[in-house]
Amino acid sequence: MGRLADIMKSHHGMTIAEDQERMLMSDLHAIMKVNETMNLTRILSEEGGMVLHLEDSLAGLPYVQDAPDGLYGDLGTGGGFPGIPLCIMTGRKTLLVDSVQKKVRALQGVASDLGLGDKVDIYAGRIEDLALERPGEFSVLTARALSSLGSLMELASPLLKKRGRLVCYKAQPSDDEIEVALGIQELVGLRLLSKDDFSLSDGSTRCIFVFEKAADPRIRLPRRIGMAQKDPLRPRH
Ligand code: SAH
Repeated sequence: MGRLADIMKSHHGMTIAEDQERMLMSDLHAIMKVNETMNLTRILSEEGGMVLHLEDSLAGLPYVQDAPDGLYGDLGTGGGFPGIPLCIMTGRKTLLVDSVQKKVRALQGVASDLGLGDKVDIYAGRIEDLALERPGEFSVLTARALSSLGSLMELASPLLKKRGRLVCYKAQPSDDEIEVALGIQELVGLRLLSKDDFSLSDGSTRCIFVFEKAADPRIRLPRRIGMAQKDPLRPRH
């Protein structure tokens, strides 16, 4: 067993097959390589990347596995986290979404080199535009280091099928952020299913929120480009 599989077993009770571990490490190495010429991530060391990218990404695996079968999308994928690791583990058809063209194009190359060419597609554009093109097509979405919970809920809702899941990776959400998220559930048609706190092997704390698409939103989504992040919804009293 390699270091990564060992960490996932001992800290998260998760078993990773040898070939999956090999692919995960290849992904990290490929991203580090691309990072030499393009700013995909701040994390540069292999040790740091293994924990903060691979271990953290894999922490969301059970929630993605739990979602209904079908298309998976990683919103604001950046260097392909958690999208590529979760594609490796689930074998789901995966769409990596980011508005920065050159980032997603580099990811397409990384995915093909990993032998994931038939599983991974890219969308170089805004999440709001994807929602106009492919409404209701996704069974599960993830988002890490993208926006506040409320903004993520608003961006994700029009993309999700009924009963589809939104898995939000958070470091330290503030009380206010959580209050807003809980307060806009009906407005955007999502319902909180679970909130789990855990630590990574380096001791840093994380939190994963899972929402389910429960109903049609009460308002028309997506709103105008940028609104979800610049002028987030607030609970209506
Ligand atoms: N998920 C990655 C990257 C986070 S950085 C990780 O955790 O490492 C956030 C990324 O989201 C950036 O690459 C940015 O280009 C993208 N992004 C932000 N808002 C977006 C939007 N509305 N539509 C598409 N991509 C967006």
